[in-house]
Amino acid sequence: MISFSLRTLCLVILLVLPTMARGQEIDWKTTVGEAVHTLQRYLRFNTTNPPGDVTEAAGFLQTILEKEGITVTQYEAAPGKINLTSRLKGSGDAKPILLLHHMDVVPADASRWNGVNPFGGELKDGHIWGRGAIDMKGTGVLQLYAFLTLARQKISLDRDIIFMAVNDEEIGGTMGTRYMLDHHYAELDPEYVLDEGGFGSREIFVDGKLVFGISVAEKRALWLRVTARGTAGHGSQPHDQNPNDKLMRALDRLFSQPFPTIPNPALDALVSQLGPLAKNRFTNAIEGTTVSLTSLQSGVGDPPKANVIPSLATATLDARLLPGMDAEAFLQEVKTRLGGEIEVEVIHPASQSVVTPHDTPMFRSLSNAISRHHPDATVVPMIIPYGTDSRMFRLRGAKCYGILPLVLSTELATSIHGDAERIPVDQFETGIRIYYDTLVEMTAR
Ligand SMILES: [Zn+2]
Repeated sequence: MISFSLRTLCLVILLVLPTMARGQEIDWKTTVGEAVHTLQRYLRFNTTNPPGDVTEAAGFLQTILEKEGITVTQYEAAPGKINLTSRLKGSGDAKPILLLHHMDVVPADASRWNGVNPFGGELKDGHIWGRGAIDMKGTGVLQLYAFLTLARQKISLDRDIIFMAVNDEEIGGTMGTRYMLDHHYAELDPEYVLDEGGFGSREIFVDGKLVFGISVAEKRALWLRVTARGTAGHGSQPHDQNPNDKLMRALDRLFSQPFPTIPNPALDALVSQLGPLAKNRFTNAIEGTTVSLTSLQSGVGDPPKANVIPSLATATLDARLLPGMDAEAFLQEVKTRLGGEIEVEVIHPASQSVVTPHDTPMFRSLSNAISRHHPDATVVPMIIPYGTDSRMFRLRGAKCYGILPLVLSTELATSIHGDAERIPVDQFETGIRIYYDTLVEMTAR
């Protein structure tokens, strides 16, 4: 009798709480322990790009997945340039959800890491340190353990969930996401992609307020080389055809006033929910057009002679435009400000950029999951100032959201690509659970 009513009760719970996990109670402590250990080992594979050989890192992920009885497929775009997918099968009632991360990392100068080995996977002061700890092996491991937990709970899904690890993101994605989209898109064809980009912060968006920004779009990079030509001569006799003087005056004109920008719905949604943003380089970058002077080159000889006026001076500019901004009109404005004497060459044209709408079930599920674990959080859509692989998926029609579901201090958020990259271990559980809850809400039948 008792067992019958318990079974009835269980059935009722399953019917009324369709998003509840259906397997045994999840031992999050053990799961987190595994995830921490896995990330430490994952960081020890030096996947610096270039050259970006991820063979061993991919093999490592494959072993973990296969140990759980999950099939893995590897796609070798070129020697060492491996991409990997693994899939939890659903009923096919909806298109897949793709968990995306990249295995390659940017170089690390070990001499600047204060005694920490950037490829040591060290656990110190409550953080796992190393190149890729946040960007993006750490994110990948949180995704992996949400994925493995779903598999272990044997939750029946209404759509496939694909775990995908790619190479080459840090150098443009040619052998990674680009390759997969060109050769294997039909096998993926996701409705949603969860990728890097957004994060939670108590400082960066509004000081003292916990905000999770989920990225829905990216700014577009437009890179320019500008050149001034003049007449070479002896440094003892200045004249008005010195290309250095011309370039300095032109750049001064270029930066003397703010750059034109355009209104943007994602930005408007963010500001209307949060009010005025904190003033820092991140919010400055997401609010409008930016231009960085990234290099200056001039002089005759190496090292340049101090007493020779050269005939050529060049600079490179990294401009970042909001989605929808007219790149051609912007380029004309730059040329006008620099003046007719300066040559302007486009070395990287602004790519197309698609904005993912945030009025979707996935955005709501992410928001719900974040709010469940951080009741004081405000969740907003945002634009990110740098590029990720999501831009290619967006152009193919997938809805992409970038989120590392952790609360990062400014120091941690800016440790990406820096000399102290690390991820806080005490947030692993909430990080995995935010992914897990989101996937259960989106897929459990
Ligand atoms: Zn990244």
